[in-house]
Amino acid sequence: MRRVFLKPKKEESLQRFHPWIFSGAIASFENGQPEEGEIVEVYTSKKNFIAIGHYQIGSIAIRVLSFQQETIDYSFWQRRLQIAYTMRKSIGIATDPTNNTYRLVHGEGDNLSGLIIDIYDRTAVMQAHSPGMHLSRMEIAKALMEVMDGHLDNIYYKSETTLPFKADLFPENGFLIGGSDNNIAMEYGLKFHVDWLKGQKTGFFVDQRENRSLLGKYAEGRTVLNMFCYTGGFSVYALRGNAKSVDSVDSSAKAIELTNQNVALNFPNESRHTAYAEDAFKFLDKMGDRYDLIILDPPAFAKHRDALRNALQGYRKLNAKAFEKIKPGGILFTFSCSQVVTKDNFRTAVFTAAASAKRKVRILHQLTQPADHPINIYHPEGEYLKGLVLYVE
Ligand code: SAH
Repeated sequence: MRRVFLKPKKEESLQRFHPWIFSGAIASFENGQPEEGEIVEVYTSKKNFIAIGHYQIGSIAIRVLSFQQETIDYSFWQRRLQIAYTMRKSIGIATDPTNNTYRLVHGEGDNLSGLIIDIYDRTAVMQAHSPGMHLSRMEIAKALMEVMDGHLDNIYYKSETTLPFKADLFPENGFLIGGSDNNIAMEYGLKFHVDWLKGQKTGFFVDQRENRSLLGKYAEGRTVLNMFCYTGGFSVYALRGNAKSVDSVDSSAKAIELTNQNVALNFPNESRHTAYAEDAFKFLDKMGDRYDLIILDPPAFAKHRDALRNALQGYRKLNAKAFEKIKPGGILFTFSCSQVVTKDNFRTAVFTAAASAKRKVRILHQLTQPADHPINIYHPEGEYLKGLVLYVE
Protein backbone atom coordinates (compact mmCIF):
# COMPACT_ATOMS: atom_id res chain seq x y z
CA MET A 1 0.00 0.00 0.00
CA ARG A 2 1.22 3.45 -0.91
CA ARG A 3 2.56 5.56 1.94
CA VAL A 4 1.97 9.27 2.46
CA PHE A 5 4.27 11.36 4.65
CA LEU A 6 3.10 14.40 6.57
CA LYS A 7 4.95 17.64 7.20
CA PRO A 8 6.39 18.10 10.72
CA LYS A 9 3.72 18.67 13.40
CA LYS A 10 0.87 18.02 10.94
CA GLU A 11 0.02 14.84 12.83
CA GLU A 12 -1.39 16.80 15.78
CA SER A 13 -5.02 16.83 14.63
CA LEU A 14 -4.75 13.11 13.90
CA GLN A 15 -3.50 12.46 17.42
CA ARG A 16 -6.82 14.01 18.47
CA PHE A 17 -8.59 11.62 16.05
CA HIS A 18 -9.79 14.26 13.61
CA PRO A 19 -10.67 12.30 10.45
CA TRP A 20 -9.54 14.74 7.73
CA ILE A 21 -6.06 15.43 6.36
CA PHE A 22 -5.80 18.59 4.28
CA SER A 23 -3.61 18.65 1.18
CA GLY A 24 -1.36 21.29 2.76
CA ALA A 25 -0.33 18.85 5.51
CA ILE A 26 1.24 16.39 3.08
CA ALA A 27 5.02 16.47 2.54
CA SER A 28 5.42 13.65 0.03
CA PHE A 29 4.02 10.49 -1.53
CA GLU A 30 5.83 7.21 -1.97
CA ASN A 31 5.98 6.39 -5.71
CA GLY A 32 4.05 9.45 -6.85
CA GLN A 33 0.60 10.81 -6.28
CA PRO A 34 -2.10 8.25 -5.42
CA GLU A 35 -5.16 7.67 -7.62
CA GLU A 36 -8.55 9.17 -6.75
CA GLY A 37 -10.08 6.97 -4.06
CA GLU A 38 -6.95 4.91 -3.37
CA ILE A 39 -6.42 3.56 0.13
CA VAL A 40 -3.20 4.97 1.57
CA GLU A 41 -1.21 4.67 4.80
CA VAL A 42 -0.29 7.91 6.50
CA TYR A 43 3.02 8.44 8.35
CA THR A 44 4.31 11.32 10.41
CA SER A 45 7.42 13.24 9.41
CA LYS A 46 9.30 10.94 11.83
CA LYS A 47 8.02 7.96 9.79
CA ASN A 48 5.60 6.63 12.39
CA PHE A 49 2.28 5.15 11.23
CA ILE A 50 -0.66 7.36 12.19
CA ALA A 51 -3.69 6.55 10.03
CA ILE A 52 -5.13 4.80 7.01
CA GLY A 53 -7.64 6.41 4.70
CA HIS A 54 -9.11 7.23 1.29
CA TYR A 55 -7.09 9.63 -0.84
CA GLN A 56 -8.77 12.21 -3.06
CA ILE A 57 -7.67 15.24 -5.02
CA GLY A 58 -8.93 18.34 -3.26
CA SER A 59 -8.62 20.40 -0.13
CA ILE A 60 -9.51 17.41 2.05
CA ALA A 61 -6.90 15.02 0.65
CA ILE A 62 -7.37 12.03 2.94
CA ARG A 63 -10.45 10.88 4.81
CA VAL A 64 -9.30 8.64 7.64
CA LEU A 65 -10.86 5.20 7.87
CA SER A 66 -8.81 3.92 10.79
CA PHE A 67 -6.13 5.01 13.22
CA GLN A 68 -4.87 1.43 13.38
CA GLN A 69 -2.91 -0.55 10.82
CA GLU A 70 -5.64 -2.81 9.44
CA THR A 71 -6.86 -4.11 6.11
CA ILE A 72 -9.75 -2.26 4.50
CA ASP A 73 -11.75 -5.11 3.06
CA TYR A 74 -15.24 -6.64 3.19
CA SER A 75 -14.81 -7.56 6.82
CA PHE A 76 -13.78 -3.99 7.72
CA TRP A 77 -16.99 -2.57 6.18
CA GLN A 78 -19.01 -5.28 7.82
CA ARG A 79 -17.59 -4.46 11.28
CA ARG A 80 -18.14 -0.72 10.92
CA LEU A 81 -21.71 -1.13 9.60
CA GLN A 82 -22.47 -3.56 12.41
CA ILE A 83 -21.39 -0.96 14.98
CA ALA A 84 -23.69 1.60 13.33
CA TYR A 85 -26.66 -0.77 13.23
CA THR A 86 -26.14 -2.02 16.79
CA MET A 87 -26.11 1.60 18.01
CA ARG A 88 -29.41 2.39 16.20
CA LYS A 89 -30.96 -0.74 17.69
CA SER A 90 -29.70 -0.03 21.18
CA ILE A 91 -31.19 3.48 21.21
CA GLY A 92 -34.51 2.17 19.91
CA ILE A 93 -34.51 3.99 16.58
CA ALA A 94 -34.12 0.85 14.44
CA THR A 95 -36.65 -1.15 16.45
CA ASP A 96 -39.56 1.30 16.81
CA PRO A 97 -42.64 -0.33 15.21
CA THR A 98 -44.05 3.11 14.31
CA ASN A 99 -40.90 4.21 12.49
CA ASN A 100 -38.91 2.61 9.67
CA THR A 101 -37.11 5.75 8.47
CA TYR A 102 -33.72 6.52 9.95
CA ARG A 103 -30.10 7.25 9.13
CA LEU A 104 -27.89 4.19 9.51
CA VAL A 105 -24.57 5.78 8.57
CA HIS A 106 -23.81 9.44 9.14
CA GLY A 107 -20.33 9.89 7.68
CA GLU A 108 -17.76 10.94 10.27
CA GLY A 109 -20.41 10.48 12.98
CA ASP A 110 -20.13 6.75 12.30
CA ASN A 111 -16.40 6.77 11.57
CA LEU A 112 -17.12 6.34 7.87
CA SER A 113 -16.12 9.68 6.38
CA GLY A 114 -17.70 10.14 2.95
CA LEU A 115 -20.55 7.65 3.37
CA ILE A 116 -24.25 8.25 4.07
CA ILE A 117 -26.87 5.50 4.33
CA ASP A 118 -30.54 6.18 5.04
CA ILE A 119 -33.04 3.38 5.63
CA TYR A 120 -36.59 3.61 4.29
CA ASP A 121 -38.41 0.48 5.36
CA ARG A 122 -36.78 -2.34 3.32
CA THR A 123 -34.71 -0.05 1.09
CA ALA A 124 -31.39 1.60 1.90
CA VAL A 125 -30.34 4.70 0.00
CA MET A 126 -26.56 4.96 -0.08
CA GLN A 127 -24.68 8.12 -0.94
CA ALA A 128 -20.92 8.47 -1.49
CA HIS A 129 -19.30 11.85 -0.92
CA SER A 130 -15.77 10.65 -1.66
CA PRO A 131 -14.20 8.74 -4.57
CA GLY A 132 -12.98 6.10 -2.11
CA MET A 133 -16.47 5.27 -0.92
CA HIS A 134 -17.63 5.23 -4.54
CA LEU A 135 -15.02 2.63 -5.46
CA SER A 136 -15.95 0.49 -2.47
CA ARG A 137 -19.71 0.75 -3.06
CA MET A 138 -20.36 -2.89 -4.04
CA GLU A 139 -18.36 -4.29 -1.15
CA ILE A 140 -20.18 -1.93 1.24
CA ALA A 141 -23.56 -2.88 -0.26
CA LYS A 142 -22.90 -6.59 0.25
CA ALA A 143 -21.68 -6.06 3.80
CA LEU A 144 -24.78 -3.97 4.50
CA MET A 145 -27.10 -6.78 3.36
CA GLU A 146 -25.34 -9.15 5.73
CA VAL A 147 -25.41 -6.77 8.68
CA MET A 148 -29.10 -5.93 8.24
CA ASP A 149 -29.79 -9.66 8.48
CA GLY A 150 -33.03 -10.02 6.52
CA HIS A 151 -34.35 -6.51 7.24
CA LEU A 152 -33.30 -5.15 3.86
CA ASP A 153 -34.22 -6.06 0.25
CA ASN A 154 -32.93 -3.16 -1.84
CA ILE A 155 -29.97 -0.81 -1.96
CA TYR A 156 -30.28 2.28 -4.12
CA TYR A 157 -27.10 4.20 -4.93
CA LYS A 158 -27.51 7.97 -5.30
CA SER A 159 -24.21 9.76 -5.77
CA GLU A 160 -24.57 11.61 -9.08
CA THR A 161 -24.59 14.98 -7.34
CA THR A 162 -22.43 14.28 -4.28
CA LEU A 163 -19.13 13.15 -5.77
CA PRO A 164 -16.45 15.62 -6.92
CA PHE A 165 -17.17 15.91 -10.64
CA LYS A 166 -13.50 16.43 -11.48
CA ALA A 167 -12.74 12.90 -10.33
CA ASP A 168 -14.28 11.56 -13.59
CA LEU A 169 -16.04 8.70 -11.83
CA PHE A 170 -19.26 8.93 -13.85
CA PRO A 171 -21.44 7.64 -11.04
CA GLU A 172 -24.88 6.48 -12.10
CA ASN A 173 -27.83 6.45 -9.77
CA GLY A 174 -29.53 3.08 -9.59
CA PHE A 175 -30.13 -0.06 -7.57
CA LEU A 176 -26.98 -1.93 -6.54
CA ILE A 177 -29.09 -4.67 -5.02
CA GLY A 178 -32.77 -5.49 -5.56
CA GLY A 179 -35.19 -2.97 -7.03
CA SER A 180 -38.54 -1.76 -5.79
CA ASP A 181 -41.31 0.65 -6.69
CA ASN A 182 -42.67 0.71 -3.19
CA ASN A 183 -41.31 3.97 -1.89
CA ILE A 184 -43.61 4.58 1.04
CA ALA A 185 -41.80 4.93 4.35
CA MET A 186 -43.17 5.48 7.82
CA GLU A 187 -42.02 8.06 10.31
CA TYR A 188 -43.62 7.92 13.75
CA GLY A 189 -46.80 6.42 12.29
CA LEU A 190 -47.07 8.90 9.41
CA LYS A 191 -46.57 7.78 5.82
CA PHE A 192 -44.36 9.50 3.26
CA HIS A 193 -43.58 8.93 -0.41
CA VAL A 194 -39.81 9.04 -0.57
CA ASP A 195 -38.50 10.12 -3.95
CA TRP A 196 -35.09 8.48 -3.85
CA LEU A 197 -34.95 8.48 -7.65
CA LYS A 198 -35.10 12.24 -8.11
CA GLY A 199 -35.51 13.80 -4.68
CA GLN A 200 -33.05 15.95 -2.75
CA LYS A 201 -30.50 14.32 -0.44
CA THR A 202 -31.50 10.65 -0.16
CA GLY A 203 -35.11 11.58 -0.97
CA PHE A 204 -36.24 12.80 2.43
CA PHE A 205 -34.92 15.02 5.20
CA VAL A 206 -34.59 12.31 7.81
CA ASP A 207 -32.77 14.75 10.10
CA GLN A 208 -35.89 16.74 11.01
CA ARG A 209 -37.80 13.77 12.47
CA GLU A 210 -37.62 14.75 16.16
CA ASN A 211 -38.22 18.42 15.36
CA ARG A 212 -41.27 17.59 13.25
CA SER A 213 -42.53 15.48 16.13
CA LEU A 214 -42.09 18.41 18.55
CA LEU A 215 -43.93 20.69 16.11
CA GLY A 216 -46.87 18.28 16.19
CA LYS A 217 -47.23 18.95 19.92
CA TYR A 218 -47.55 22.72 19.39
CA ALA A 219 -50.00 22.57 16.47
CA GLU A 220 -53.35 22.24 18.28
CA GLY A 221 -55.77 24.97 17.17
CA ARG A 222 -53.07 26.96 15.42
CA THR A 223 -52.95 28.52 11.97
CA VAL A 224 -49.73 27.07 10.55
CA LEU A 225 -47.37 28.19 7.80
CA ASN A 226 -44.78 25.60 6.71
CA MET A 227 -42.27 27.57 4.65
CA PHE A 228 -39.79 25.54 2.52
CA CYS A 229 -42.02 22.49 2.95
CA TYR A 230 -40.29 20.10 0.45
CA THR A 231 -42.08 16.78 1.16
CA GLY A 232 -44.53 18.42 3.55
CA GLY A 233 -43.06 16.70 6.61
CA PHE A 234 -43.86 19.45 9.10
CA SER A 235 -47.32 19.96 7.52
CA VAL A 236 -48.36 16.35 8.03
CA TYR A 237 -47.31 16.44 11.70
CA ALA A 238 -49.20 19.73 12.18
CA LEU A 239 -52.35 18.20 10.70
CA ARG A 240 -52.05 15.19 13.00
CA GLY A 241 -51.55 17.60 15.90
CA ASN A 242 -54.99 19.17 15.20
CA ALA A 243 -53.87 22.41 13.61
CA LYS A 244 -56.75 24.68 12.60
CA SER A 245 -55.24 25.06 9.13
CA VAL A 246 -51.89 24.40 7.46
CA ASP A 247 -50.41 26.25 4.48
CA SER A 248 -47.31 24.75 2.84
CA VAL A 249 -45.01 26.81 0.63
CA ASP A 250 -42.09 25.82 -1.60
CA SER A 251 -40.71 27.38 -4.77
CA SER A 252 -40.47 23.96 -6.42
CA ALA A 253 -43.66 22.70 -8.11
CA LYS A 254 -42.38 19.15 -7.66
CA ALA A 255 -42.11 19.69 -3.89
CA ILE A 256 -45.68 21.00 -3.77
CA GLU A 257 -46.84 17.93 -5.65
CA LEU A 258 -45.02 15.70 -3.14
CA THR A 259 -46.50 17.63 -0.21
CA ASN A 260 -50.04 17.23 -1.57
CA GLN A 261 -49.42 13.52 -2.13
CA ASN A 262 -48.13 13.03 1.40
CA VAL A 263 -51.02 14.93 2.96
CA ALA A 264 -53.48 12.81 0.93
CA LEU A 265 -51.66 9.62 1.93
CA ASN A 266 -52.27 10.33 5.62
CA PHE A 267 -55.43 12.42 5.56
CA PRO A 268 -57.61 11.71 2.52
CA ASN A 269 -59.99 14.60 1.68
CA GLU A 270 -58.27 16.96 4.07
CA SER A 271 -59.75 20.45 3.80
CA ARG A 272 -57.45 22.15 6.33
CA HIS A 273 -54.40 22.03 4.02
CA THR A 274 -53.39 24.26 1.09
CA ALA A 275 -50.05 24.20 -0.75
CA TYR A 276 -48.53 27.06 -2.73
CA ALA A 277 -45.68 26.87 -5.28
CA GLU A 278 -44.17 30.26 -4.60
CA ASP A 279 -40.97 32.02 -3.63
CA ALA A 280 -40.58 32.35 0.14
CA PHE A 281 -39.83 36.06 0.22
CA LYS A 282 -42.73 36.92 -2.09
CA PHE A 283 -45.13 34.85 -0.02
CA LEU A 284 -43.93 36.33 3.29
CA ASP A 285 -44.31 39.86 1.92
CA LYS A 286 -47.96 39.50 1.06
CA MET A 287 -49.20 36.87 3.52
CA GLY A 288 -50.76 39.14 6.13
CA ASP A 289 -50.83 38.38 9.85
CA ARG A 290 -53.02 35.32 10.15
CA TYR A 291 -50.36 32.76 11.17
CA ASP A 292 -49.55 31.87 14.77
CA LEU A 293 -47.21 28.96 14.08
CA ILE A 294 -44.53 29.42 11.42
CA ILE A 295 -41.83 26.98 10.33
CA LEU A 296 -38.80 28.30 8.44
CA ASP A 297 -36.58 25.46 7.21
CA PRO A 298 -34.63 26.93 4.28
CA PRO A 299 -31.97 25.12 2.24
CA ALA A 300 -28.36 25.68 3.29
CA PHE A 301 -27.71 29.36 2.56
CA ALA A 302 -23.94 28.86 2.80
CA LYS A 303 -22.26 25.79 1.42
CA HIS A 304 -18.77 27.28 1.85
CA ARG A 305 -17.10 29.54 4.37
CA ASP A 306 -16.80 32.38 1.83
CA ALA A 307 -20.57 32.60 1.62
CA LEU A 308 -21.03 33.00 5.38
CA ARG A 309 -21.75 36.75 5.43
CA ASN A 310 -24.39 36.54 2.75
CA ALA A 311 -25.91 33.53 4.44
CA LEU A 312 -26.24 35.35 7.77
CA GLN A 313 -27.88 38.25 5.99
CA GLY A 314 -30.28 35.77 4.37
CA TYR A 315 -31.24 34.32 7.76
CA ARG A 316 -31.71 37.83 9.19
CA LYS A 317 -34.00 38.93 6.36
CA LEU A 318 -36.03 35.75 6.35
CA ASN A 319 -36.56 35.68 10.11
CA ALA A 320 -37.30 39.41 10.26
CA LYS A 321 -40.20 38.89 7.86
CA ALA A 322 -41.62 36.13 10.04
CA PHE A 323 -41.23 38.25 13.21
CA GLU A 324 -43.01 41.17 11.53
CA LYS A 325 -46.01 39.09 10.56
CA ILE A 326 -46.48 36.39 13.21
CA LYS A 327 -49.49 36.85 15.49
CA PRO A 328 -48.89 37.86 19.12
CA GLY A 329 -48.57 34.64 21.12
CA GLY A 330 -47.25 32.91 18.02
CA ILE A 331 -44.55 30.25 17.85
CA LEU A 332 -41.71 30.25 15.36
CA PHE A 333 -39.69 27.14 14.49
CA THR A 334 -36.61 28.44 12.67
CA PHE A 335 -33.70 26.38 11.31
CA SER A 336 -30.33 26.52 9.63
CA CYS A 337 -28.72 23.47 8.07
CA SER A 338 -25.59 25.28 6.81
CA GLN A 339 -22.55 23.59 8.28
CA VAL A 340 -20.42 26.74 8.26
CA VAL A 341 -23.02 28.72 10.23
CA THR A 342 -22.39 28.05 13.92
CA LYS A 343 -25.05 27.88 16.60
CA ASP A 344 -23.91 31.31 17.83
CA ASN A 345 -23.89 32.81 14.31
CA PHE A 346 -27.43 31.60 13.77
CA ARG A 347 -28.68 32.76 17.13
CA THR A 348 -27.20 36.22 16.54
CA ALA A 349 -28.88 36.44 13.12
CA VAL A 350 -32.25 35.53 14.66
CA PHE A 351 -31.65 37.95 17.55
CA THR A 352 -30.97 40.78 15.08
CA ALA A 353 -34.10 39.90 13.14
CA ALA A 354 -36.23 39.92 16.31
CA ALA A 355 -34.82 43.30 17.35
CA SER A 356 -35.43 44.82 13.92
CA ALA A 357 -39.07 43.75 14.12
CA LYS A 358 -39.21 45.06 17.74
CA ARG A 359 -40.86 41.89 19.08
CA LYS A 360 -40.46 40.35 22.53
CA VAL A 361 -39.05 36.90 21.92
CA ARG A 362 -38.24 34.01 24.23
CA ILE A 363 -36.39 30.80 23.38
CA LEU A 364 -38.46 27.72 24.23
CA HIS A 365 -36.21 25.05 22.70
CA GLN A 366 -32.82 24.82 21.07
CA LEU A 367 -32.93 22.09 18.49
CA THR A 368 -30.32 20.04 16.70
CA GLN A 369 -29.97 16.88 14.66
CA PRO A 370 -31.34 13.58 16.04
CA ALA A 371 -29.39 10.70 17.56
CA ASP A 372 -29.22 8.76 14.30
CA HIS A 373 -27.14 11.69 12.96
CA PRO A 374 -24.49 11.46 15.70
CA ILE A 375 -21.64 13.90 16.03
CA ASN A 376 -18.18 12.40 16.32
CA ILE A 377 -16.74 14.21 19.33
CA TYR A 378 -13.42 14.60 17.47
CA HIS A 379 -15.17 16.14 14.44
CA PRO A 380 -17.24 19.11 15.64
CA GLU A 381 -17.87 20.10 11.99
CA GLY A 382 -20.44 17.29 11.99
CA GLU A 383 -22.87 19.41 14.00
CA TYR A 384 -24.80 21.12 11.21
CA LEU A 385 -28.50 21.36 12.04
CA LYS A 386 -29.54 24.19 14.34
CA GLY A 387 -33.02 25.24 15.29
CA LEU A 388 -34.78 27.57 17.69
CA VAL A 389 -38.35 27.39 18.87
CA LEU A 390 -39.42 30.89 19.83
CA TYR A 391 -42.43 32.34 21.61
CA VAL A 392 -43.24 35.72 20.11
CA GLU A 393 -45.33 38.19 22.16
N1 SAH B 1 -38.64 21.28 5.71
C1 SAH B 1 -38.35 20.25 4.75
C2 SAH B 1 -36.97 20.39 4.11
C3 SAH B 1 -36.72 21.71 3.42
S1 SAH B 1 -35.52 21.62 2.16
C4 SAH B 1 -38.55 18.90 5.41
O1 SAH B 1 -38.86 18.80 6.62
O2 SAH B 1 -38.40 17.90 4.71
C5 SAH B 1 -35.55 23.21 1.50
C6 SAH B 1 -36.67 23.46 0.49
O3 SAH B 1 -36.63 24.87 0.19
C7 SAH B 1 -36.54 22.76 -0.87
O4 SAH B 1 -37.68 21.95 -1.07
C8 SAH B 1 -36.47 23.89 -1.91
O5 SAH B 1 -37.24 23.61 -3.08
C9 SAH B 1 -37.09 25.05 -1.16
N2 SAH B 1 -36.66 26.40 -1.59
C10 SAH B 1 -35.43 26.80 -1.96
N3 SAH B 1 -35.42 28.14 -2.22
C11 SAH B 1 -36.69 28.59 -2.00
C12 SAH B 1 -37.32 29.86 -2.09
N4 SAH B 1 -36.62 30.95 -2.43
N5 SAH B 1 -38.62 29.96 -1.76
C13 SAH B 1 -39.33 28.86 -1.40
N6 SAH B 1 -38.78 27.63 -1.31
C14 SAH B 1 -37.48 27.48 -1.61
